[in-house]
Amino acid sequence: MPIKTVTQNFCDVCYKEHPNKLVDATNELHFTWQKKPYIILTCDRHTIEMVEQFNKLLAFASAEGKARPAPKGQPQSVIKNKSAFSSLSGSEKDRFRNWVHMPNARHISDTRVYEWIALGKP
Ligand SMILES: [Zn+2]
Repeated sequence: MPIKTVTQNFCDVCYKEHPNKLVDATNELHFTWQKKPYIILTCDRHTIEMVEQFNKLLAFASAEGKARPAPKGQPQSVIKNKSAFSSLSGSEKDRFRNWVHMPNARHISDTRVYEWIALGKP
């Protein structure tokens, strides 16, 4: 019996504001607060809002550098997040590459991708 299980992600912010309103999430925003990792699923509108909020914080922040090695005997947990770029669709990747003038770019910083999303994916 062929079975197809589909998982659909909805915007966390829309859902918290209006639990009856399910809006497709188009982005995953990953961040770490006090060494604890979090994720917010967002629609395009809330991606822009959240990125603006994060940018306000980042203006005061400095990068912490290398993570501390894991204590002996404990495996180091590696949280591997999908990059913002890899979460774009094929046509969005092409449009983004045009926008950044990097036609063959494969590894692109999440910040650039969020800037592009914040501009309405031109
Ligand atoms: Zn939303």
